[in-house]
Amino acid sequence: MVAKALRAGAAAKRGRPARARQAEATIGFVSLGCPKALVDSERILTQLRAEGYATSASYEGADLVIVNTCGFIDAAKAESLDAIGEALERNGKVIVTGCLGAQAGIVQTAHPNVLAVTGPHDLAAVMEAVHAQLPRPHDPFVDLVPPQGIKLTPRHIAYLKISEGCNHRCTFCIIPSMRGDLVSRPIGEVLAEAETLLRAGTRELLVIAQDTSAYGVDVKYRTGFWRGRPIKTRMLELCRALGELAQSAGAWVRLHYVYPYPSVDAVVPLMSGGGILPYLDVPFQHASPRILRRMKRPANAENVLARIQAWRALCPEITLRSTFIVGFPGETEREFEDLLEFLEAAQLDRVGCFAYSPVDGAAANAYPDAVPDAVKEARRERLMRTQAGISAARLARKRGRVERVLVDAPGVGRSAADAPEIDGVVHFEGGRLGDFVDVRIERSDEHDLYGRRV
Ligand code: SF4
Repeated sequence: MVAKALRAGAAAKRGRPARARQAEATIGFVSLGCPKALVDSERILTQLRAEGYATSASYEGADLVIVNTCGFIDAAKAESLDAIGEALERNGKVIVTGCLGAQAGIVQTAHPNVLAVTGPHDLAAVMEAVHAQLPRPHDPFVDLVPPQGIKLTPRHIAYLKISEGCNHRCTFCIIPSMRGDLVSRPIGEVLAEAETLLRAGTRELLVIAQDTSAYGVDVKYRTGFWRGRPIKTRMLELCRALGELAQSAGAWVRLHYVYPYPSVDAVVPLMSGGGILPYLDVPFQHASPRILRRMKRPANAENVLARIQAWRALCPEITLRSTFIVGFPGETEREFEDLLEFLEAAQLDRVGCFAYSPVDGAAANAYPDAVPDAVKEARRERLMRTQAGISAARLARKRGRVERVLVDAPGVGRSAADAPEIDGVVHFEGGRLGDFVDVRIERSDEHDLYGRRV
């Protein structure tokens, strides 16, 4: 019943050892069980070869070993557990699949160090576990696209999307109805993509999601794997790993769409050590508690002010960016002024503001007391005028300082405080796209800085 069809790289026994392309992406394979399991093994091996992985005829020559197990009778289970133990002992990195994988508890109790356990007929889960450990090899003679894929951004910057969808139900927004609830990408896959992008020359990774700080909530912060290490699917662990990767590649990481949750407090100290920029893009949207409730936003203004103070205490150089909506249905003059007072108290560095616009399908459209368009626009202009004074004063404090700048084009670049497209820039002479230069700041206005390279 238990046919030990292949053991340790048997794929290679049936033909030439397949190590033609990249020694760093080589997989050993042990296939146990019945012909149905054998067919599963063939599908996995076919997919591995199609993606450019080589197979190894020895445990020692492999970067990791996949064991396709049998779980039919006790003897089969015992043999499968033995095979996993042997692979762990001789290689150390093991992904388990097949019938015994459907009883993950048995495998993990006997062998807690396996990298991942997937059930039978689950090619996608096996490949996901492989990708998390060993990024897909790239063959420039066969692949039509570069390893990082086709990018619409300049080569030195790249967006890294860590999740899709959103669990909030803000009444002005229809994104959850279009994109569904939060689905976090596996952390190993996200980090493998980050490595590929950095290897391809990315100097600034922009982390995005609908709600970056909710990363992993949907999978209960499940433990994933990256470079053979267990790692939680959670913002803190993700930022720590991204920061390390960026630092060793001489790049930086910028966080967008972060909510003012208490959990973010633990991320802010990472911003003082390089890698993760001291920059947070936090869409507060309003400051009046009643309007925030009507918007169904999670935080209230008092907590937010305390949180901002705490972040600045943890990382004094942090740049805070936010967006606001004015003229939300029912917003009174007093509530709008509360928002202006909040801006004065918060002293945010960068602010965007939209006049409320009723999107088809948004719950807020059902609220009475729509604010007339002319009032909305007047409030937007007032808010932007207030913020212009705050931004100008905050930028003026940078005069005389030397800022590290990433060059976007000769003469124009961005410091840690400037996200592409939405914030200001630094003007100076010369520089090559994608290089970092140091600029002494001599002048500033309400958006930009001007200086000289040092
Ligand atoms: S505004 Fe953002 S947080 Fe709110 S529902 Fe839309 S996507 Fe989610």
